[in-house]
Amino acid sequence: MMSRPRSTVARIARVFTTLALGIAVATTSSVTAFAQNVPVVRDAEIEALVRDYARPIFKAAGLANDGIDIVLVNDSSFNAFVTGRRLFINTGALMTAETPNEIIGVIAHEAGHIAGGHQQKLRDQLERAKTMAIIATLLGAGAIVAGATTNSRGLAGAGMGVAAGGGEMAQRSILAYQRTEETTADRSAITYLNATGQSGMGMLKTFARFQSALSLSGTQVDPYRISHPMPQERIANLEVLVKQSPNVDRLDPPALQQRHDMMRVKIAVYMEGQAAAARLMQKMRGSLAALYGDAQSTYLYGDITSALAKANALIKAQPKNPYFQELRGDILMKANKPKDAAEAYAKAVSLDPARSGLLPVSLGQALMAVGTPDSLKKAVVQINNGLGRDKENSEGYRYLAQAYGELGDIPGAELATAEGHFYSGNYKDAKIFAMRAQQQMKRGEPRWIRAQDIINYKASSKI
Ligand SMILES: [Zn+2]
Repeated sequence: MMSRPRSTVARIARVFTTLALGIAVATTSSVTAFAQNVPVVRDAEIEALVRDYARPIFKAAGLANDGIDIVLVNDSSFNAFVTGRRLFINTGALMTAETPNEIIGVIAHEAGHIAGGHQQKLRDQLERAKTMAIIATLLGAGAIVAGATTNSRGLAGAGMGVAAGGGEMAQRSILAYQRTEETTADRSAITYLNATGQSGMGMLKTFARFQSALSLSGTQVDPYRISHPMPQERIANLEVLVKQSPNVDRLDPPALQQRHDMMRVKIAVYMEGQAAAARLMQKMRGSLAALYGDAQSTYLYGDITSALAKANALIKAQPKNPYFQELRGDILMKANKPKDAAEAYAKAVSLDPARSGLLPVSLGQALMAVGTPDSLKKAVVQINNGLGRDKENSEGYRYLAQAYGELGDIPGAELATAEGHFYSGNYKDAKIFAMRAQQQMKRGEPRWIRAQDIINYKASSKI
């Protein structure tokens, strides 16, 4: 069911409301022009990798909190931004970086801004806001785009990124730092990289690229470049610091580089299309990453039997890789074999050290497609399990609502729909559905109380 690309927010909003038991509800959120594309993309593999990049750095910066939320912004330009607990990163930044070290360096620099208390007031405001509201602010949309998030599969063929006109640049540079702050953040970044035994060369490479005249030649101006001033002098000073470090020549561990390559191939296949993916795979010819890209490309655009054989070969090469099992599940769903898909997703869930909330939701979807009363009940358990790990998964609530609906639990479906709107920042519709759910619930029961929490919720000050 995820194999059909859903290219517009409007369509997603429609799916959302039709799944809610066919009750027609006009969405009140204004869908702005930029929202023709999905701004946030969810992917268990990429989120886990970026979290692995960030964790040691955050720890060295004294920012260690167990959960770091990774928000992947579907935009081909380069940007990265950290609030206290959320790391926003453009897929374009991940695609541009040839090594983990380049991304880790940028994360270290951003952690330096946090530790230095730069832009603290704005950061505090953003910290209280829902993810989608922040995205809207960062992208200069000025409106909350309810539910504009999907997993990578849902993006295939949708086209890349969020196009922003020149007039939005002012808003895009909302987080513009002072030059003195840049120097502080650079120094802090080197401290964190040294503490974690990593080189600063990746950071230097990234910033030097921004600094060079070459980066001006493209049609696209990277928001990161606008918010982080990069005069020649700064790069020269940074170079001295980087080269003084005993870790200057350290390379990323090969296993991490391999995960990075697999991530880049995935972004290319799902978000940039066949041609871009083929170019990248050509560069990585013979590697596991290239085989991974080939299997994914075959799944999306080729023969399904062949895709399955390729996924099986990947699993043979790395039996403990949860994302190969996930791909196998995706392929089996497309082949209309939900029972086998459920088995593959169940393996992915059990193999996933990052305990992503997305994989149990995929398992739940497969169980829903099996369609027996027993499998529907199991689906509800799995989707709730996934949402318990990851409350902001708006797609998950859609499937939960559908599963409850098919089981005849109408108030459960209404409450799930309310939750979906709530975590998308669409409080008005959230309250409407919460009130509808309450009408069919016993006053004071746990679900009634949760509905009441949504009804009573007051959105914090607008950003
Ligand atoms: Zn900076």
